[in-house]
Amino acid sequence: MGNLKRTLSHIGEGIINLLYPASCFGCQCALHRPELCPKCISSLKPVKTPFCSCCGQPCEGEISGPFHCSNCSGQNVAFDFAIAAYLARGCIREMIHEFKYHRRIALRHTLAKLAENALDDPRIGGGKGWLLIPVPLHRRRKRERGYNQATEIARVISRRRKLPMCRALQRIRYTASQAQLSRTERLCNLNEAFSMRSAPAIQDKIKGAQILLIDDIFTTGATANACARILRNEGQAEKVVVTTVARG
Ligand SMILES: [Zn+2]
Ligand SMILES: [Zn+2]
Repeated sequence: MGNLKRTLSHIGEGIINLLYPASCFGCQCALHRPELCPKCISSLKPVKTPFCSCCGQPCEGEISGPFHCSNCSGQNVAFDFAIAAYLARGCIREMIHEFKYHRRIALRHTLAKLAENALDDPRIGGGKGWLLIPVPLHRRRKRERGYNQATEIARVISRRRKLPMCRALQRIRYTASQAQLSRTERLCNLNEAFSMRSAPAIQDKIKGAQILLIDDIFTTGATANACARILRNEGQAEKVVVTTVARG
């Protein structure tokens, strides 16, 4: 059943490619595949040092060595740290929007490739020895959207980097969309929204594992934090690092 579904989704992707002839997502110049041309890639803003060693928020000015931004100082977060490959500006932001809300599933290849830059953080060291876990969507939201954007990105990274992936988490509460809510509302909104999937094989994989929790975008970190808490407390993961394509 899973294979049939994937085949259908590949056929769907082929049709979408016909509807949107291959061109650069940013400037519409002709390309072999729908992605970004070198010029548009060079216009993206990578997350560069100095950035907060907890949430990955870049900071202006000269700071050497690890530091915590004002948001993270004194906060008790469940993940070890969060790292995004790029700032969510310009065409990367639009790309994520199209991927998430307009079913442009073919964009997953480019987004995954961009996300992989975050794996070069020396604390991750390319990803060897880490397990990829996508942030889950509620079944109903997944049906509305057509797919889980985080799973699609994780799957491409897993294939390209030969890293194991496990859909260990599930979203058990259908919650209001996070985008409209304040920080405090987001935190409440996520109470008990996630749980581990109950298969024993999953428990074995998570216990003591170093996990890269994969998502498209990191905004307040509330979703990532709720997932990391479950992986640590229920799953007894050793490390949880949030890895995203972009940072809001
Ligand atoms: Zn371009
Ligand atoms: Zn921070």
